[in-house]
Amino acid sequence: MSADKYYTLAEGCPFASSSTAVLMRNRQGGGLGLLQDTQLIETLAHFSRERIPERVVHAKAIGAYGEFEAIGDCSDITSASFLKKDGKKTPVLLRVSTVGPESGSADTSRDVHGWGMKMYTDEGNLDWVFNNTPVFFIRDPIKFPSMNRSHKRHPKSHLPDANMFWDFHVGNPEGIHQLLVLFSDRGTPQSVRFLNSYSGHTYKFTKEDGSFKYIKIHMKTCQGVKNFTQEEATKIAGEDPDYMIRDMFEAIEREEYPSWNVFVQVMDPSEAENYKWNIFDMTKVWPHTDFPLRKIGKMTLNRNPGNYFADIEQAAFSPSNMVPGFSASADPVLQARLFAYPDAARYRLGVNYQQIPTNAAKAPVYCPFQRDGKMRMDGNYGGDPNYVNSSLQPTKFYQEIKGGSPQSLSLHTEHEQWVGEVTTFTSHITDDDFVQPAALWEVIGREPGHQDRVIANLAGSISGVKSSKLRHEVYTLFSHVNQDLGTKVMKATEAAIKH
Ligand code: NDP
Repeated sequence: MSADKYYTLAEGCPFASSSTAVLMRNRQGGGLGLLQDTQLIETLAHFSRERIPERVVHAKAIGAYGEFEAIGDCSDITSASFLKKDGKKTPVLLRVSTVGPESGSADTSRDVHGWGMKMYTDEGNLDWVFNNTPVFFIRDPIKFPSMNRSHKRHPKSHLPDANMFWDFHVGNPEGIHQLLVLFSDRGTPQSVRFLNSYSGHTYKFTKEDGSFKYIKIHMKTCQGVKNFTQEEATKIAGEDPDYMIRDMFEAIEREEYPSWNVFVQVMDPSEAENYKWNIFDMTKVWPHTDFPLRKIGKMTLNRNPGNYFADIEQAAFSPSNMVPGFSASADPVLQARLFAYPDAARYRLGVNYQQIPTNAAKAPVYCPFQRDGKMRMDGNYGGDPNYVNSSLQPTKFYQEIKGGSPQSLSLHTEHEQWVGEVTTFTSHITDDDFVQPAALWEVIGREPGHQDRVIANLAGSISGVKSSKLRHEVYTLFSHVNQDLGTKVMKATEAAIKH
């Protein structure tokens, strides 16, 4: 070869051409392709396969790398290593998305924003898979696919459909709290840099002595919460559907690194038993006055991905990725997510998705019970035993990462006692379900003009409902929160329809 730098075929052959290399030509300048043109065939075949399944939810996203810094001493509430020392830093990957619309959709459309955050701790990966809202639409996990479909396209018209959306929510009114957040200004955040994120679910901090606390996590933007009005969001959606991606990517390129303070609300299990709200119901918050925020860290983004597909599209987040000191609670929606998220990753990326560099733990991994499968990238643990309780010594694969012989460590440091009956899930709506939405309506009222904007935002959506009966059921739902809210939404909606 004369040149020292040259393109090759995918398997290294130093022969690549910018035009089709092998054709059987005729005199008129036509040509028949030949199977021996490996470059042409591989180029075409690879192109047809370069899309992986789009996420069924959370398809449109931006991501970046950064770090989490522990603040203060948390040893009284958790043994988690990443929180052990004031100032300890842990690398982080963050992916923020809209939920319902597709990958090419406008990122300023009114929607909940998902927050997938992977902390590559020295005790394995911890994923915080949060939202920018502190509550959720449902508390029974079987409703999750239905709820999401009702927010997507109609099966016949293939159009987003207000009839479906409001029909679902009238039939499942426990979502009223989240609806109010969604139709407030926070439903159209002014980019990722200006939104908060919340665990929503209750989780647990655990300690080695077997004790635990229930917690909820809040991440508050250091840039301040900033939102678009509906009109601004709609205009930008037309002019620049990738506005939020551009905003954060360019800010990081300018070295204006966005950051978030991280807080926990902490509840002792003894308080949980008689607390006025079911703490495993993610349509409810814990009021700040009862459970004040305690600062535990700060997260800063400081590096854009080197390649979007490799680093962000291939990233897989799951609340089941936990570390010692951090544990799931008995929230039924969380319990279902512990299964559904890794299951989605296995479908989307393949069974060995945990080996993809952006997902791989930076802590040592020795997991010889997961073997083989499509796209195995490592040495597959050579000849090490692939069954439990082996008396045989592991080979170099274990020695290389840890040395010595592997031990089984029990992570069951927390000890909830469960005695119960197998029953069906009951999620009846009661007057209690309207107490926190009513409090939020008051919070919204603290900001001049905000209640009027919520009413206009709701009217804009409900006016797409064809059935007068269904529209009036929606007004009744909002009247349960606040009579004035229900009446004003009705007036604004019906006036919009008459025009
Ligand atoms: P507080 O007055 O202490 O808290 C009210 C909180 O409301 C604020 O801290 C702010 O959360 C949040 N907020 C402000 N505007 C909006 C909005 N448009 N959409 C959603 N949240 C907003 O009262 P309580 O703790 O007693 O809560 C009252 C109501 O506030 C709750 O019923 C709930 O709807 C809402 N809320 C409560 C949160 C909690 O964890 N207690 C968290 C978020 C909302 P932030 O400081 O996080 O921006």
